Amino acid sequence: MRKLLVTLVCLIIFSLSCGRQADELSERTEFGLVLHGGAGNITKKNMTVEKEKEYTEKLTDAIMAGYEILEKGGSSLDAVQKTINILEDSPLFNAGKGAVFNHEGINEMDASIMDGNTLNSGAVAGVRHIKNPINLARLVMDSSRHVMMTGEGAEAFAVEKGMELVDESYFFTQKRWDYLQKVLEREKKKTTDSSQSNINNHSSEKYGTVGVAALDKNGNLAAGTSTGGLTNKRYGRVGDSPIIGAGTYANNKTCAVSATGIGEYFIRGVVTYDISALMEYEKLPIQDAADKVIHDKLIKLGGDGGVIGIDKKGNVMMSFNTERMFRGYILSDGKPIIKIFKD
Ligand code: ASP
Repeated sequence: MRKLLVTLVCLIIFSLSCGRQADELSERTEFGLVLHGGAGNITKKNMTVEKEKEYTEKLTDAIMAGYEILEKGGSSLDAVQKTINILEDSPLFNAGKGAVFNHEGINEMDASIMDGNTLNSGAVAGVRHIKNPINLARLVMDSSRHVMMTGEGAEAFAVEKGMELVDESYFFTQKRWDYLQKVLEREKKKTTDSSQSNINNHSSEKYGTVGVAALDKNGNLAAGTSTGGLTNKRYGRVGDSPIIGAGTYANNKTCAVSATGIGEYFIRGVVTYDISALMEYEKLPIQDAADKVIHDKLIKLGGDGGVIGIDKKGNVMMSFNTERMFRGYILSDGKPIIKIFKD
């Protein structure tokens, strides 16, 4: 009788522990990818159905390209880079081909990428002749002993490594040019001017930076961000996108995150690292950590924008305080989810 009782208790304990394991496993996704195509304040009624469709299709193309890499067992770094390449090659987004113009009418681009496994990272800022700035950021990470290179030095490094430069005219798009003229015109009309109000003026305007975070089948996280920065920014201005810990961060212990919004606030708030730190030290889930940083910190600083990310278990996070953020994700089931406006 006693033996039977002991066996029964053992059986119950065993089945309970199996159940717990199954629960833990069901929380995990094998791999996944999440992206953003910029945050901004265009409301739903200010966007045509055709435009919405165009953005949704391009974001889907990009997400599927990343998914294919992950599905075949490729690395999260490759998936991040490839997904960003597709968005950089589209004039729809403020990165690569569609980069916005600075005050002088020049396209100066920033990008960064980070490997959550090794914490290796690569970044470029203020490049003008690089078709896909995220590729140069990857090259800095993989083929130099540095993390960040800027302007002419970064481009000389690109040439040395066999990367072709493109003419500045490649980045000309009428839409971005007209938008700069509009902003310059508005600026001229202003009677008072201060650097702070200049930055805040962007809060009602559109962004369009692109960023991706991914988890691969080996459990490695990676994140990357690419941008033309802010329309009418000063020559030489560098935003958060190429700053590790501000615009981009990945760490296998916690999460991979990319940000979009007015970079100055994301740099001051060390936003993407802060999300990882809340997960590492306070054990917060990724969505709670991101919401806390956006609402308790970024907004208090006066900033706006958003973040996307994925954690080591494949939980996806999207958090923003603007009217819209182009965003989407895909998990191992292969079904892309794309969203633009607040739910
Ligand atoms: N964060 C970018 C920057 O400040 C802009 C953006 O996300 O739209 O350069």
